Amino acid sequence: MMGAMHVDRYAPSPTSDLHLGNLRTALAGWLLAKAAGGQWLMRVEDLDTARVRAAEGVEERQLADLHSLGLDWDGGVVRQSERLAAYRDAVARLPTYECYCTRREIAEAASAPHGDGYRPYPGTCRDLTEAQWAAKRATRPAALRVDAGGATCTVLDAHAGEVTGTVDDFVLVRGDGQYAYNLAVVVDDIAMGVTHITRGADLLSSAPRQAWLTRALGGTPAAYAHVGLVTNARGERLAKRDGSVTLGDLSPRTSEDVLAMLTASLGLGPCRTTEEALAAMPGDQRFFSGAMWDGGQLVAVSATSRM
Ligand code: GLU
Repeated sequence: MMGAMHVDRYAPSPTSDLHLGNLRTALAGWLLAKAAGGQWLMRVEDLDTARVRAAEGVEERQLADLHSLGLDWDGGVVRQSERLAAYRDAVARLPTYECYCTRREIAEAASAPHGDGYRPYPGTCRDLTEAQWAAKRATRPAALRVDAGGATCTVLDAHAGEVTGTVDDFVLVRGDGQYAYNLAVVVDDIAMGVTHITRGADLLSSAPRQAWLTRALGGTPAAYAHVGLVTNARGERLAKRDGSVTLGDLSPRTSEDVLAMLTASLGLGPCRTTEEALAAMPGDQRFFSGAMWDGGQLVAVSATSRM
């Protein structure tokens, strides 16, 4: 029987080495794709040129780390820095307006930030009079926002269920001319034929915005699986200061040891190869839950799931 095509992608930003949480999410996406007989594609999100340049060599280490765990991708590596023409064409097809607001002005005018710190844009510049607009225009370069018309959008997440969000007039092109994350992700997911998106739970609140933009550009939104984050013992998102969190830090543990730890934390039991992990699929209920890094061990934190 032919199953529905399953195309997922992993999309690291090459600004710092992958830590256990990133690797765990990559493994989850790889396993879900391979268990479905599908593809797992690789996209390097290197649009933020200043940060990428400052973090020289990181992309190579990220790809080498994934490869060392047996997480090989299908096809070549797509780099966002090579796709600027596609982003430009997409922007030209969308209703937009120029925005001159500073972060401070938005913070003062917007409602409370989401959990990820994102503040929905209240539409200030859409509603300016000509005179107000001209005065603002003189002050700084414009960002370009999409006019979403107050839409709402519902996505389906494998763990969180149906998630509905109001779509604000989010930025497509930043004031410095750089294409924004939400735009580039959506344009690329459509171009790459992505049907499933497995990524960290920190991006769940971006999903309705991105699904709405996908439809606006004529695409079909993917099915989402936002994987719980790895936290430190205090329940905070894992960071470099927590120590021993990248593959390099975990030496002398072998990649087999690390894979066993990661697969156990996904509820598959300790598997020392990706083949073993695939044989242990489908995962138990912990598959999309988070984990805690505590004293050198990775512990799954919750067994709840709506799958
Ligand atoms: N590049 C983003 C990150 O590293 C991931 C974007 C995505 O998966 O949609 O957080």
